Formats: sequence, C-alpha cells, structure tokens
Amino acid sequence: MTGDELIYLDHAATTPVDPRVLDAMLPWLRDDFGNAASRHHLPGRRAAAAVETAREQVATVLNADPREICFTSGATEANNLALLGLAGAPAYATRRHVVTVRTEHKAVLDPCHHLEGQGFELTVLGVDANGQLDLDALAAALRDDTLVVSAMHANNETGVLHPIADIGRLCRDRGVLFHTDATQSFTKEPIDVATANIDLLSLSAHKIYGPKGVGALYVRSRGPRVRLAPLIHGGGHERGLRSGTANVPGIVGLGESARLAYESMADETARLRTLRDRLRSSFVDRITGTTVIAASSPRLATVLNVTFDHVDADHLLRHQTRIAASTAAACTSATIQPSHVLGALGLTDSQIDGAIRFSLGSSSSESQIEATVQLMTHFVAGHREDPPAPQC
Ligand code: PMP
Repeated sequence: MTGDELIYLDHAATTPVDPRVLDAMLPWLRDDFGNAASRHHLPGRRAAAAVETAREQVATVLNADPREICFTSGATEANNLALLGLAGAPAYATRRHVVTVRTEHKAVLDPCHHLEGQGFELTVLGVDANGQLDLDALAAALRDDTLVVSAMHANNETGVLHPIADIGRLCRDRGVLFHTDATQSFTKEPIDVATANIDLLSLSAHKIYGPKGVGALYVRSRGPRVRLAPLIHGGGHERGLRSGTANVPGIVGLGESARLAYESMADETARLRTLRDRLRSSFVDRITGTTVIAASSPRLATVLNVTFDHVDADHLLRHQTRIAASTAAACTSATIQPSHVLGALGLTDSQIDGAIRFSLGSSSSESQIEATVQLMTHFVAGHREDPPAPQC
C-alpha cells in the first residue's frame, strides 16, 4: 500500500457498493425502469420478476420462504415495523409488555421507548462486562402478557454475539414472539430462522456491500403466523405490509449483495478473523494500556473494539487522515454522547473516551493491518505526550 492511502476500518458503519452489485443494479436505473406493480406490460413484469429474484436471494441466506421477506428502506424501518407493527396488530391487543436489552441499537431502543409512551410496559435487561445477556434473567422477565423480546444478533459497537437460538427457544416455549436485529451479522454469521425460532429479523443492504436506503424484515408466516399492522399505508405493496412503489434497483442490489456475501461467507469470515486477531494481538503487544472490549465473548470476526488508556479517541481520530475508524456507533455520532453500549458493559467514562472500533471488510489486507498498528502506535504515543486541553 502507498504511504498516504486511507485505511478504511469502518465497515460496521457502512460498506462500499461491490462493483458486481452496481452492475446488477444499473440496468434497473437505466433501461428497465418498469414499476414492479404494473403487471399489464412487460417492463412492469420484468421489474416484478427482478424483485422476486431478490426476495429469494435474501430468503436463502436465512432459510426462510421468499414470501416471508418484506422489503423496507433499511434496518431502522425494519425494526420499527417489527416492534410498532406488532404493538398495533389487533391479534395481540392484550399483550402490552415488551422486553429488550440495554445494548440494542437506537433503532430498537427508540421504538421501544415510543411504545412505553403509548402505555406499554418495557423491561430493558442489562448485560455483563462481556456484553452477554443473562438467560435466566430473560426467562424471569417473561410474562403472560409479554408481546415480544427484541434482542440483536451481533452488536454494532462490540461485535458481541447473542445466543439467538437459545433466546428463540426460550421465547417459543413461553409463547412470546422473538425479534432480532441482525443488521451486523447478516451474511457474516450463519442464521437459520427455522431452527433458531426467530419470528422477525431485520437486515440492511449497506452493511453487506449493497446500496444505502434498502433493507428487509423477515416475518414468520407459519408456526406461528406473525401479524403486523403496517406503518405505511397506501397501495398495499409488500402484501399490504409496506406500501410504496418498490425501489427496484435498490432491492436488486440487496439481493445480489446478499447472494455474493453468502457465497463467500465461510472464506471471508476466516480471512477477516485472522486479520482481526492479528490487529488485536499487535495492539496488545505493542501499545501499553490497551484493553480489548468484551474479549471473552463470542464476537463477529470483523469487529475489534479496544480502549487505550489516557487517550481521547475522538480527538485522536479527528486529528489524523490515514485511518477511518469510529469511536461510537456512527448513527449516534451526530449527537456526541458516551456510548450507551460501552456504558452497559460497565466501562468507565474515561475508558469509553479511549475506545475505538475497528471494523474490517473486503478491502482489509495484511499490509493495511500492519500499517494500522504502526500508525496507531505512533498516534497513541504522541497523543499521550500531548493530551488535549481539558474542556469546560
Ligand atoms: N441496527 C444495527 C445493529 C445497525 O448497526 C444499524 C446501522 N448502524 C441499524 C440498525 C440501522 O440500519 P439502517 O442504516 O439500514 O437504517
């Protein structure tokens, strides 16, 4: 790599569009402009067929039926549709209790708090220092009127994996619905909605080398059939769950990115795990005062969150131009608040201030990892000698 090349280590925030995905999308932006709901002519039917192919591609990754995939504008909308959609469904009118976890993404926590404002009771479970949920505490939280448990698969800040099959089993045994936000794990970890007893699952294209602004919600159709009230009303698209003219190029991009990422999942996961582990051990060996966050939890192969003692990570990252990484989830960076996720793991404010998430992806290479270690060693040393002025 050249001396001033940017090292992109923020794949958990977003990924570049794979050129093969772009190639698959372009015809649907240029010549094949049909509306997928226009069944009376060929352009419409061609668009509809392309949408159905993408539905199959997404369903294949989850071992779902294509009819169980509802396309949305991304995972934020999918999470909202799952939680608010269940809450608004007449079939569940008597179930007014929702369970979630402190480390969830805001796109789950905020709809849950919204429901609390509507009169639902909310239980927010804590996690231990490794980001793990206590399954006994989860079991104890379930009630006869519990509507849903929403617990993510992989955490976006720490990469910590929740045991979704165990959570699914527990929920199924107690007759409670289970939603999981799998935005970070989709095509990176095996997911089988059937064996894991998942009722609803959210995902997004831009985390898997697809375009921004498109995602999907998996909605179980049998055993049990999940009922949702739509949030967006109109022409009855997506089986009445999500009205609005289908984003054909985006949906084609999601399908193709899911297909490609799933095809290479085993090899790419192994490659990135090796690189991630090298980054971790090099940091620990070469930079004193480095602590790996949630080190003993099962974690995504692509994420490493470390905290450097006596470092203001925000200041450090902003004052260099070589490494693109992040301090807290990018989605909440607009409002600078200490990470609620790291706080839930019990990190102190100064540990949170020193934390950086490095998330690897397709562009990551051995030479980039070595360069990152060298650069970080240099930055951290310089930063510690020259700490930023205290802020009032
Ligand atoms: N959930 C998780 C775990 C995420 O990481 C993200 C993206 N940061 C979202 C939801 C929101 O996804 P989208 O950008 O597709 O709305």
